[in-house]
Formats: sequence, structure tokens, C-alpha cells
Amino acid sequence: MTLGMPIYLDYHATTPADPRVVDAMLPYFKEKFGNAASRHHRFGWTAEAAVEKGRKQIAALVGAHADEIVFTSGATESINLAIKGVAEAYRSRGDHIITVATEHKAVLDTCAKLERHGFNVTYLSVDRSGRLSLDELLSTLSPSTILVSVMAANNEIGTIAPLEEIGKLCRSRGILFHTDAAQAAGKVPVNMESMEIDLLSITAHKMYGPKGVGALVVKKRNPATLLVPQIDGGGHERGLRSGTLNVPGIVGFGVAADLCAKEMADESERLASLRDRLVKGIMSQLDDVSQNGNTGNRLPNNANMTIAGVKADRLIMDMKDIAISTGSACSSASPEPSHVLKAIGLRREDVLSSLRFGLGRFTTSAEIDVAIQKVVETVRLARTETYQPAHA
Ligand SMILES: *Cc1c(COP(=O)(O)O)cnc(C)c1O
Repeated sequence: MTLGMPIYLDYHATTPADPRVVDAMLPYFKEKFGNAASRHHRFGWTAEAAVEKGRKQIAALVGAHADEIVFTSGATESINLAIKGVAEAYRSRGDHIITVATEHKAVLDTCAKLERHGFNVTYLSVDRSGRLSLDELLSTLSPSTILVSVMAANNEIGTIAPLEEIGKLCRSRGILFHTDAAQAAGKVPVNMESMEIDLLSITAHKMYGPKGVGALVVKKRNPATLLVPQIDGGGHERGLRSGTLNVPGIVGFGVAADLCAKEMADESERLASLRDRLVKGIMSQLDDVSQNGNTGNRLPNNANMTIAGVKADRLIMDMKDIAISTGSACSSASPEPSHVLKAIGLRREDVLSSLRFGLGRFTTSAEIDVAIQKVVETVRLARTETYQPAHA
């Protein structure tokens, strides 16, 4: 599949559905249209069997059991259910939640709402590379801490969190650990069992599945994780999330997860090499360009660069042939500069000069070469107007 023009380099915002995913979904809009909760006829049984297959495929991707999957409308809803659901269920035990300054707005806004309802939330800081300090996490834990929520990989700078260490630390103290794995799942290995993760949020549209379907994976065994449902109704999904299941979406999500699991090793190598070629191509031809994030431990498809002396939003508008962004798509409705880049200590002017590149399954080396050329040309032109290089 080729995506054509403009060249799509915004895979952190969303991914196109893989054609194999779409093919698998189609019958579930047509002859296999049944409601998975219909117990009395074949239409329902067919839909239910498809949902159960999807559950298995998604569970396998993240090292969980099929009966631990709770289907939702996406990662935002999963995150809301995880954090609010735990907060309500464990309130009598404690009122303290720990998260990180660089989390997605779905986590930060949910935590802010809980603060208005009397919970205490600690926002851990990160270093220049976007990593939290395990020592700081350790010193912040208290007897009233009920939940730690740390994203698996950042959606702007790609930094991967030490999930295993955090999981171990939380498990040994009986504190629940939730991770927002919307960017990490399907791209890098995530395993709930070996990483001792209790709750994990994922979404299909970041892994070549359809939009509008996601899952919260909830550890069920020794001990079971308690959650208060946030959507009440017919008692679907073991009572944790009512509402008729999105059967075609779940079928697509399952196939998407399966494809990611099978292709992850080769694909991440291919993407990292394309990403490195992009970064090298830009940095070798332009002065005063620096990379943001942890270049040693980040998503293979991510690069975030500060290009001194140019306004990123202007650059993006000038490069009509490349679809990229400055950061989180979710906050691009509001022109606020990236809270992630601020949290890693970038000066305001550098935040406003930063570009996020997200590569993906359909990115080709020819596209990368065009992108390098376009970025270099456009930056050179923009800099002739106003820019004085630092070393001049
Ligand atoms: C995209 C994204 C979300 C939100 O997922 P939706 O399915 O779009 O609600 C949450 N967290 C991260 C890290 C993301 O990248």
C-alpha cells in the first residue's frame, strides 16, 4: 500500500488501517452483522466468536489472558476507566496517585479532575531525555498511594519508560501500576506479566487498526484488580464497560495486534534505520539542529528535532508535501506549546522550533529522501529571512 502525497510522517497521531485489517473487518459490517450479546441465534454466536478471537489476539500481544481484556472506544476511555475506576474502588485505602509530567492529556486531565474531587496527585519530573527518576518515584510513594500511572512510550519524543523496574517497585508494595501503552504496544515489546503491570491502555488506531476501538487490559489474578465501572448499562464486558460491542472494530483490532506481534522485530529494525537516515540527512545538511528525547531508548519510529531559528508551525505550513506535526494531535486545537518539551527543559523558543516525525509501516526510503530534501530546503529558505546562526 502506498499512501501518496503528501508524505505521511505523523504516525504518532494515527495510522492508516492495514488493508489486511480492513479485509478482515468487512464481513462484520455485512452478512456477519450480529450483536455479540445476542444469545439466541447464529448471528449473535458468529459475532461473539469473532470478539473472542480478537480478545485472544490482543491479549497475546501484551502478555495477558483473553478474559482480562475490556473493550472500550479507545485509549482515552481506557485511561479514564483505569484511573477513575481504581480511584473509586480503592478510595478507602488511600487518596494518592502518582503520574508523570510528560503523560498524554488523557492521563493529565483525568488526574486533574480527581484532584478536584479531593485526591492528591504527584506529577513526577523527567530529565532532559524524558526519563523519570526511580529514586524520586520511590521517595514519593506513601502508605496512601493507590496507583502509579506511567506511559510506556511518549507520543512526542518516543522515550520508553523502565516499565519492569516500576512494575516491580509497585507490586512489592501492593500499589497498582497502570501504563498508557497507546504508542508502545505493537511497536516495542510490552508484557504485562513480566513487567508486573496491573492495568494497560491501548488503542487500535495507533497500530494499523480502525479508529474508535481500544482496550483496557486488567490483571485478573492474584490478586484481582478492582475497578468501579464508569459507563453503566447492560453489564457487557463483565460489567466493567456496558454498551454493544464494536464487532467489526474488535475484529480489526485483533488482526492489527496479530500483525504487529508477527512483524514487530523486523519492522522496528527497518523503521529505526529509516528514522536514523532521516535524522542524519537533516542534521548533516543543516547547522543548529538537535534531537529531543532519549536517542538510546526510544520508539524506533520516532524523531523529535529542534531546528533553531525557525518557527515549527510556519515550517509545517510551508512544507505542503509532508504531513508532520509539532507534537500531540490532541492538543493541536489549542496553540499551547508542548508540555512534554517544556518538561524536558527546553526553552520556550526551542519548544516552538521543534518538529515531531513519526514513521510507520507504509513509510519508504524514497519518501524519507524526499522529506529530507524538503525539510532542508524549507529551513534554508526560512533562515535566510531572519536567522543568525549561533556561531556566526
Ligand atoms: C493517541 C494516544 C492516546 C489517546 O488514544 P485514543 O484512542 O485516540 O483515545 C493516549 N495516549 C497516548 C500516549 C496516545 O498516543
